[in-house]
Amino acid sequence: MLQVAARVVVFVLWLVVAGGARGWSQDAGAEPHVILVMTDGLRWQEVFRGADESLVTPKRYYNGRSVKELQKKYFAATAEERRERLMPFLWKTMIPQGQIYGDRDEHSDASVTNGFNFSYPGYNETLTGHADPRINSNDNVPNPNVTVLEWLNEQPGFQGQVAAFGAGNVIAAIVNAGRCGFPVDAGYDPLMMTPMTPRLEELNSVRAETPQVWDEEPFDAPVFYTAMEYIKEKKPRVLFLSLGETDDWAHAGNYGEYLNAANRVDSYLEQLWKTLQAMPEYAGNTSLIFLTDHGRGSGPKDWTSHGQKIPDSKYIFMGFVGPKTPAMGNRANVGAVTQSQVAATVAKYLGLDWNAEEPKAGLPVAVAVR
Ligand SMILES: [Zn+2]
Repeated sequence: MLQVAARVVVFVLWLVVAGGARGWSQDAGAEPHVILVMTDGLRWQEVFRGADESLVTPKRYYNGRSVKELQKKYFAATAEERRERLMPFLWKTMIPQGQIYGDRDEHSDASVTNGFNFSYPGYNETLTGHADPRINSNDNVPNPNVTVLEWLNEQPGFQGQVAAFGAGNVIAAIVNAGRCGFPVDAGYDPLMMTPMTPRLEELNSVRAETPQVWDEEPFDAPVFYTAMEYIKEKKPRVLFLSLGETDDWAHAGNYGEYLNAANRVDSYLEQLWKTLQAMPEYAGNTSLIFLTDHGRGSGPKDWTSHGQKIPDSKYIFMGFVGPKTPAMGNRANVGAVTQSQVAATVAKYLGLDWNAEEPKAGLPVAVAVR
């Protein structure tokens, strides 16, 4: 019996040693992954305070539609309760396990540094790590700058492992789809994938056949579910997703739909996170970053707009969760962070140094990366 027991002990020891030597802890499932999600022009005010009661009026919904349902859905006595109603996944799951910056009521500032406070300069700053005075319009011109995504796609182990999805067709220009070398799906264009899947065929039809309320971008839903289908089929290590309805409904002055769009973005984050955690390639090794490209003004008129003439629209929010992010929740009384720090943070989550490649880039958000 003793001999058998000794053999079992030796066998177990061999398993441990051999397992370590073979790097079982370093298998494909342990490689770091990053998903970067942006929703266009969502204000820090709604993210941290929830729905603004003074803005929920029939005039600011569908110019007369009853707002009772919205009030029931989003109103509560405190900012904490209201924000949990608007973005329950963010506040009950993502932030308790991660960190968020930008709660100005708690002395935590997050802002853009580009001075323009609109989309293309904000996406460029996020994806390159620096503002660029040449990027001074939302015109659909290819980005002269190399984004961290394009650089990652050339790094060992990352070739063919990067993809970008955008509701707005300008996203294709921002990542320079003609040069970047990775799949980009933006605007109303269908995603062609090899092999095509029946679900993707259907999603392409939905996107093409839904009324085109805005010239340059479809609704968020087909874009999000297309990105999800791509994740399930191709399992990229780095994925960028930009959603647009939060900005479109705000410009339209429709506060009710703006809230509903933010609420849907939250449900997309939840579906995304749950899906990733159920896939062996992503479970336990994926960092999720969630932010916006610019803020908006405050008050009954300026909330709809943003830009150089609305200086406060430089304020944004930046959230982080994943195995390399200490769970510190809603950061209060901390130094200011900037959008220009996101690109280097993405690279650092992947064990890479974007600042060495692009010296103009902001440094990683130190406390958000172990
Ligand atoms: Zn924007």
